[in-house]
Amino acid sequence: MTNRTDPYGRTIDYMRVSIIDRCNLRCRYCIPEDIQWLPPKEILTLEEIAEICRQAAAIGIRKIKITGGEPLVRKGCLDLIHMIKSIPDIEQVTLTTNGTLLTPCAKRLSQEGLNAVNVSLDTLDREKYAKITGRDALADALAGIAEMEKYKIPLKINAVLQQGVNDGDWQTLIQLAKDRDISVRFIEMMPIGHGRQFASISNEDILEKIQEQYGPLEKVQKILGNGPAAYFHIPGFRGDVGFISAIHGKFCHACNRIRLTATGQLKPCLCYEDHISLKEAVRGGSPADVQRLLLAAIAQKPAGHCFTQNREKITEKKEMAQIGG
Ligand code: SAM
Repeated sequence: MTNRTDPYGRTIDYMRVSIIDRCNLRCRYCIPEDIQWLPPKEILTLEEIAEICRQAAAIGIRKIKITGGEPLVRKGCLDLIHMIKSIPDIEQVTLTTNGTLLTPCAKRLSQEGLNAVNVSLDTLDREKYAKITGRDALADALAGIAEMEKYKIPLKINAVLQQGVNDGDWQTLIQLAKDRDISVRFIEMMPIGHGRQFASISNEDILEKIQEQYGPLEKVQKILGNGPAAYFHIPGFRGDVGFISAIHGKFCHACNRIRLTATGQLKPCLCYEDHISLKEAVRGGSPADVQRLLLAAIAQKPAGHCFTQNREKITEKKEMAQIGG
């Protein structure tokens, strides 16, 4: 039962899997300080998540990204990675994390064969980091990054820039790519959850500023990662600089993903509240039921988001942390 092609001819082979809504940071655009956590019984068990990934593999999903909340806050995250890595048709299991809890997990992540890690890091300035994330944890995030390098787990840094907060921090962030095998990517702020209250800095402006300093940059033609980033090479740098321009460079025509929330909601698109619940099927149904619902979500994918035009049509009300990014 495989038809992972959506109505617009896009091949859907990538699933982002949020395993928890909780996070140990409070990035102001992502998660409000007074957020109400979901009761644990609402959240899928690790075995249920693994079973959904098994059925996703059966319909043609090949790449899984573990996300949250903060995935490493969930006890058993590493066991789940082990379970998903054991699914024969899954080709890549990757993790997105704020990095602050990575250090004690590094050895096991390496043993499990985790394919890559994204670390979300918006600044290298300790005070600014505390202001953005609500926690004085920059040193922990940097230690986590160093551990990933020690174990040679491929690493990307993802940064969201905010006007008047860290809009100039691209200068220091890209230095991480100078002498290290690290790609640094800039993600445009999207109007989801608290992100609606922030203006989105255009990645084109960031690229222009980088070029003012480093001269014209060459676009990297290879595909790095699971999707929409455009990469550029700065002469003399080991890592590349990437841009995920969901707002100013809409890339929905190349969308390859569905999203599973921690409560078992399968989202065809980040922008809309529409979802299909897998919880009942994975708790009481058959593998074929789960597969049918996965295919239904792919069949329901819209042509694209409406972040730039018709913003009033954005129906998703959840915070990004409750979706997984
Ligand atoms: N805690 C994990 C992490 O830090 O990667 C996973 C969850 S977090 C929601 C995933 C990513 O979404 C982070 O890189 C975060 O900066 C980004 N994010 C959150 N809200 C956003 C928004 N409104 N627009 C763009 N990116 C956002």
